Amino acid sequence: MALTGLDIYKLLPKTNCKKCGFPTCLAFAMALATKKVSLDKCPDVTEETKQILESASEPPIRTVTIGSGENKISIGGETVLFRHEKTFYHKCGTGILLSDNLSVPGGEIKNKVSLFNKLVFDRVGQKVRAEFIALKNDSDSETKFIDALNEINTLSSDSLLILLSNNITTLEKALSTLKDRRPVVGPANTGNYESMTNLARTNNAGLLVTGKDLDEIAAVTQKITDMGFREIVLDLSNPDINSCLENLTQVRRLALRKNYRPLGYPTIVFCSAKQGENNCDALTCGATFIAKYASIVIVPEPVDWQFLAMVTLRQNIYADPQKPVTVQPKLYSIGGTPDNKSPVLITTNFSLTYFTIEPEIINSKIPSWLVVVDTDGLSVLTAWAAEKFTPEKIVDAMKKANIENIVEHRKLIIPGYVAVMSGKLNELSGWEVLVGSREASGIPKFLRSIWL
Ligand code: SF4
Repeated sequence: MALTGLDIYKLLPKTNCKKCGFPTCLAFAMALATKKVSLDKCPDVTEETKQILESASEPPIRTVTIGSGENKISIGGETVLFRHEKTFYHKCGTGILLSDNLSVPGGEIKNKVSLFNKLVFDRVGQKVRAEFIALKNDSDSETKFIDALNEINTLSSDSLLILLSNNITTLEKALSTLKDRRPVVGPANTGNYESMTNLARTNNAGLLVTGKDLDEIAAVTQKITDMGFREIVLDLSNPDINSCLENLTQVRRLALRKNYRPLGYPTIVFCSAKQGENNCDALTCGATFIAKYASIVIVPEPVDWQFLAMVTLRQNIYADPQKPVTVQPKLYSIGGTPDNKSPVLITTNFSLTYFTIEPEIINSKIPSWLVVVDTDGLSVLTAWAAEKFTPEKIVDAMKKANIENIVEHRKLIIPGYVAVMSGKLNELSGWEVLVGSREASGIPKFLRSIWL
């Protein structure tokens, strides 16, 4: 829990020596409480105070990074129970579970990893994908586990890995085959947490912690943190979807509302629903736990329609409600290869506006130019009302797009909702301003009626 300025003041030397640049220790404490200054500016603070203040300033849920280089994601680090209170910071990872009992080489592992690699989708201008492959040592055979891991490494070198075995030697060998992948290893439990923690620490890996209930998991994480290791992911899997949801909610509440450190870590859920034809159970589990409050959701099979639904849901939940989703403000060519006779349309850089207009221009079968104006992600009417979609800004965007040297005509199509600006826009740009349809659905008819 965050300390107040007075709480911090009580821990400072109270000599008012001014070495920190503040006239008094109290002034320094107040600045520290609002994060306007860092603690190291006071040279006389004791080690004990440093530790207290550092631990008090840590977020209630630890952020853990998995993977490395360009192939990494951070999970956890959330500060609110509900997205509308502020935002969720680190999107939930998704992935599949593979058993090392599956045939290798060239068999089932290969098929499933190939399908996993295709779980990449383009949605509202963003590339979204499944990230994790969890490999479980069901066979108890070191050779089978390593063979399966090698196959995964060969076929999907950019996936994030979760390696699950009760055999420390098998995990050690597996980790020695990986270079800078920073996987998650486990499961650590009451019986093996010491060796698992040492293994994870030595190999720069995250550690999956499990237990029969939340009390047992909390007891294990406490012991692991006492060993000085905190790169922990809590495994809250439960065959009963209700119990699992309940535990995920309790963990989030305890961490945020009670600042309960032993459960202040990101979470993972392995959906145990069996996959069958037309079976939506895995998707139901996945979607439920993405919504509340898993940091990683693993489902049994790489089924594209399930993942499309899950990553779409994730994209919506983890979009910052304070920041509209935007597209780059620039000139777009749409519907083929527009030329110097093609129509020129104008719109705003609100992503939903763009992705509503784009397919309608394609539907018109008339290749067109679309000048997207930077309106800070506001839609047409909102941007106009906020004076972010003005004739001046449109003229500026047209200049940046160099559209006057791209087309030989001087006709500009504006959205029907901002017909009111046509006179001034004509005056400022020197272009004939055509007022287009109000709704995107009217674009094909409008374009065909005026341009063919
Ligand atoms: S340097 Fe430390 S002891 Fe001196 S005034 Fe600042 S906070 Fe107080």
